[in-house]
Amino acid sequence: MPRPFDLDPYFRALTTLPGVGPRIAPLMERLVGGPKVIDALWHKPIDYIDRRFAPPISEAPAGKIATISVVIGKHAPNARRQQPYRIACSDASGTMSLVFFNPRKKWLQEQLPEGARRVVSGKVDYYQGRAQIVNPDFVPEAERKTLETVEPVYPLTAGVTNKTMNKAILGALRLVRPLPEWLDEAHKKRENWPSWDEAMASVHKPMREADLEGANPARARLAYDELLANQLTLLLVRSRQRKLAGRSYDGDGAVRARLRAALPFELTGAQEKALIDISADMAEPARMLRLLQGDVGSGKTVVAALALAQAVESGAQGAIIAPTEILARQHGESLKPLLEAAGVRAVVLTGRDKGAARETILKQIASGAAQVVIGTHALFQKDVAYQDLGLAVIDEQHRFGVQQRLMLSEKGKGVDVLVMTATPIPRTLTLTAYGDMEVSRLDEKPPGRKPIDTRLFSMDKIESIAEGLQRRISEGARVYWVCPLVEESDVMDLAAAEERYDILKQRFGERVGLVHGKMKADERDVVMAKFAAGDLDVLVATTVIEVGVNVPEATIMVIEHAERFGLSQLHQLRGRVGRGGDQSYCFLVYAGPLGEIAKERLNIMRDSEDGFVIAEKDLMLRGGGDVLGVRQSGLPVFKNADLNMHGDLLATARDDARLIVQRDPNLEGERSEALRYLLYLYECEQAFANIRSG
Ligand code: ADP
Ligand code: MG
Repeated sequence: MPRPFDLDPYFRALTTLPGVGPRIAPLMERLVGGPKVIDALWHKPIDYIDRRFAPPISEAPAGKIATISVVIGKHAPNARRQQPYRIACSDASGTMSLVFFNPRKKWLQEQLPEGARRVVSGKVDYYQGRAQIVNPDFVPEAERKTLETVEPVYPLTAGVTNKTMNKAILGALRLVRPLPEWLDEAHKKRENWPSWDEAMASVHKPMREADLEGANPARARLAYDELLANQLTLLLVRSRQRKLAGRSYDGDGAVRARLRAALPFELTGAQEKALIDISADMAEPARMLRLLQGDVGSGKTVVAALALAQAVESGAQGAIIAPTEILARQHGESLKPLLEAAGVRAVVLTGRDKGAARETILKQIASGAAQVVIGTHALFQKDVAYQDLGLAVIDEQHRFGVQQRLMLSEKGKGVDVLVMTATPIPRTLTLTAYGDMEVSRLDEKPPGRKPIDTRLFSMDKIESIAEGLQRRISEGARVYWVCPLVEESDVMDLAAAEERYDILKQRFGERVGLVHGKMKADERDVVMAKFAAGDLDVLVATTVIEVGVNVPEATIMVIEHAERFGLSQLHQLRGRVGRGGDQSYCFLVYAGPLGEIAKERLNIMRDSEDGFVIAEKDLMLRGGGDVLGVRQSGLPVFKNADLNMHGDLLATARDDARLIVQRDPNLEGERSEALRYLLYLYECEQAFANIRSG
């Protein structure tokens, strides 16, 4: 399905816009968030300059832009270079000065001859009690209209002035043409929304304060468009997954029973409840698409193991996919013995398996000799063929995209999907990331966990912290020591960690290890394994200690420069301790002095261990922005919709999308033709292509 050709202009390079050359283009690309004309059009004004204000000279307020009709008076050329060139002028109410720095004198004398009538415009200020405008714009009276404009003010960056931005966007607006209307006419009318082209023109021509707000009809329409594209895409992907017939995986319970018998603990109520949901979904012939959300340490892995067991009972294979090498290996270490105790044959496959070893594993997967496959996204690769994949568990899914989810479902017939995440995603965000995915929550921690004792220390206490550690280590404690991310510099990052490593080694001797992002994965694994085995007491790490790493004997977490981390990141890091029965500690070390908000944020960490509470309070403190590290997490980042503002539009967009797919499942009707334009504008066309080919 090719892109409608009348959309081509929107996808031209920024350099095709007036005033955007090869020097400015990369700056503008970073500013607007993309290399294309459409990206410039999504860049919306944050303010405007109103030049229509036309007071008499005597009433022109300082600091405001005014456009005034005047008669030009005497010129006072500058005697020295540093002095400005002044021209007096007046209207019936009073006099003022026009001030020019380093002008071409001859040109000024021609343009503003004494006695001429001119319209002048610019910001009025007062100098020695007298009104003046520095470097005013001016035109003859007849051209007054050209000055009485409202100029949008855009978010800018060094090297891209507002003038450049305005010129480029005016050029982009000239490419905007009416498009087939994809909105429901009645809905559009009810909301009083403009058409696509009107909305574009109006968003870039704010005339009042209200025009800058999200509730403005043009902005609301664009936001709705984006949410509709998002919801429709998710629905199309999902209905395609549904169309590929699902299968029923209802085993006899034998493997699950053996697995449960091998567990050293009872499942929590929350785990049991999630398993009832999952088990029922799997038994249904429809495809499962379920999100298992549970804070760090809530025990998601065991739930996954039992789901995999159910797939195996039904004669199918199961796969569990982790975002990183370390996590995949760790899942291997914890799951394999458990599964094997239940008589299930499991293999681990990651990008590091090469050559003959890899061939052997691939053969086991293809023949079905391997009943469960544990690995990284290497499991998606083309040469990995399954005998009969029935269930895919995706751990910490937020790093995988919709596209990868699609690839996965191509790996078998009717693959059920269970997504596991520790990110405390609020309901609205879940909707944008997964559509109407079913959600099970593990809202109960395994019993016997003592709360983690979290304490704040300023950097100058670092010596006494180290001393305290010495005592605890001699009593058998194991310690994570996290060094912070230094913004945009892996090198300095590493330097800080290495320095700390040296200092700690002087104190604690050889039983200190270091892991960082620049190490090869297998070198890193060696160190991690030593720490897990108890051959190291202290593990110094940059933030590479992956989400999910499980060393129950580690009871102390020190985080240096805690003030530099996001709260959700701190929460994830802290979740590395408190996994066994022993009292655990988290020391948040900050470099003072801290601002009010920074202090408050660390207090939240000290006072709560609940991921949802932390996320919520963080949201309140920061008031929007990149809450929960959403950008990092791979959740969708909207260009026109702001969920704080347009959250209620999301539910409508979801219902709208549902109705569209219900009424016209193959998207062949008139509205669907128009929706094709929408999906292309938001570059969601893959979903569309999917529905037709499927
Ligand atoms: P996460 O949800 O962060 O992936 P894990 O699955 O890694 O959590 O579980 C954390 C720890 O809790 C593991 O050591 C696991 O064996 C243990 N655990 C899981 N469920 C229970 C339970 N019901 N009772 C006691 N310990 C449990
Ligand atoms: Mg986990």
